[in-house]
Amino acid sequence: MTKADSPPLAPSDKQPPHVKIPEPPAKKVGWAIVGLGQLAIEEVLPAFGQCDLAKLVALVSGHPEKAKKVAAVYGVDPKQIYDYSSYDTIAENPAVDVIYIILPNSMHAEYTLRGLKAGKHILCEKPMATSVAECEQMIAAAKTARRQLMIAYRLRYEPFNVEAIKRCREGQLGKLKTMRATNGQNTQAPNIRLSQTLGGGPLQDVGIYCLNAFRYLTGEEPIEVSATAHQPKDDPRFREVPETVAFALKFPSGTIAQGDCSFGTSEARRYDVHGTHGSLHLDSAFAYLGQRLILRDSKMASELNLSPVNHFAAEMDHFSECVLSGKESRTPGAEGLADLRVITAIQEAIRTGRTVALNT
Ligand code: NAD
Repeated sequence: MTKADSPPLAPSDKQPPHVKIPEPPAKKVGWAIVGLGQLAIEEVLPAFGQCDLAKLVALVSGHPEKAKKVAAVYGVDPKQIYDYSSYDTIAENPAVDVIYIILPNSMHAEYTLRGLKAGKHILCEKPMATSVAECEQMIAAAKTARRQLMIAYRLRYEPFNVEAIKRCREGQLGKLKTMRATNGQNTQAPNIRLSQTLGGGPLQDVGIYCLNAFRYLTGEEPIEVSATAHQPKDDPRFREVPETVAFALKFPSGTIAQGDCSFGTSEARRYDVHGTHGSLHLDSAFAYLGQRLILRDSKMASELNLSPVNHFAAEMDHFSECVLSGKESRTPGAEGLADLRVITAIQEAIRTGRTVALNT
C-alpha cells in the first residue's frame, strides 16, 4: 500500500471518535452571594467553577472595596455589586434568580425575607435562623412569594453521607439502636460564632450537624431531649456562649442518639451508628472533604470507596435544578425548622436540667 491510498494516522482536525465536545447547558441559573466572609470567600465562590447549572452574577456586601476585588477575580460586573441598603433593588435585576445568604445567623431571617420580597429564590446557610418563630415566618414568606427556600445542608448532597443514609434507612445495619456524633473545633476570637447577639454558639454552629445527622440517618423526629453544657468562667471567649454542649435524643423507634459539640477542642467531626446486625463509622463526617466510611458486621470491617464531590458545587447545582424544574429541594425550610425545634428543646433541657418532650 502506498502512502497516498492509506488514511492519515493523525490528521490535525480529528480526535479519538469517543471524545464528545461538551454542549453548553440550555440555561444557567444566576446567583447572588450575600456576605463575603470566610465561607463565601474560601469555599462558595471557588465552587462556582465546578458548577454545571449555577453561575455567579452578583455580590451583596457591606464592604465596597472587598466586593470590588472579589468581583474582579470572579468576572462579576461591578454594576452587579449591592450593599445592605441597596439590597432590595435586586428585585429589578433579571439576571439574579437565586440569593445565597452567608451572613451571621442572626441576619438569616431578615435577608431571606427581603430576598423573597424581591422575588428571588433563597438558599440560606445553617442554622436557618435563631428561633422557631423566625423559621416559620421564612417558610410562610416563601409560600406567599411562590419562591423556593432551601437550607444549605451540604452533607445531604455528598456521596458518603448519602450512602450512610441509604444503609441506615434500608435496614442494612438491622434495627438502629444507638448513634454517636461529635463535631468540635477550637474557635478563637474574634468570631461571629462566639457572639450571642449574632446567633452564635457551638450548638447552632457545629452541634447542628450532629442533630441533623441523627434526623437524616433515622428518618425520624426525636420525641425526647436531655442535655448539659459547660461555659467556663475563666475563658473570655465564652462570655456569651457555652464552650461545650452534649445532648441525647430519643427517637420513636427507640434509637438513642448522643451528640456533643465544642468550641474548645481540636478538630473532631465523626459519627457512629450501631444496629442489630452491623454498624457504620463515618470519619470526617461533617468536614468539607476527607470522609471515610467504614462498615462492620460480626465477621469483618470494610471501607467503602466512593468518589468525593465538592459539597458546595453539588448543593448549588441541586438548587439550580430545582429552580429550573420547579421541584422541591431535598432540604427545604421545613428541615431548618425541624432542627431549630430540637435546638430550642436542647436549650430548655440545659436551662431546666430536665428531660424535654417534643411533639412530633
Ligand atoms: P464570617 O464571620 O467569616 O462572615 C460573615 C460575613 O457577614 C462577613 O463578611 C461580615 O462582614 C458580614 N457581616 C455583615 N454584618 C455583620 C455583622 N453585624 N457582624 C458581623 N459580620 C457581619 O462567617 P462565616 O464563617 O463565613 O459564616 C457565615 C454563615 O455561614 C454562618 O451562618 C455560618 O453558620 C455559615 N457557615 C456554614 C458552613 C457550611 O459548611 N455550610 C461553614 C461555615 C459557615
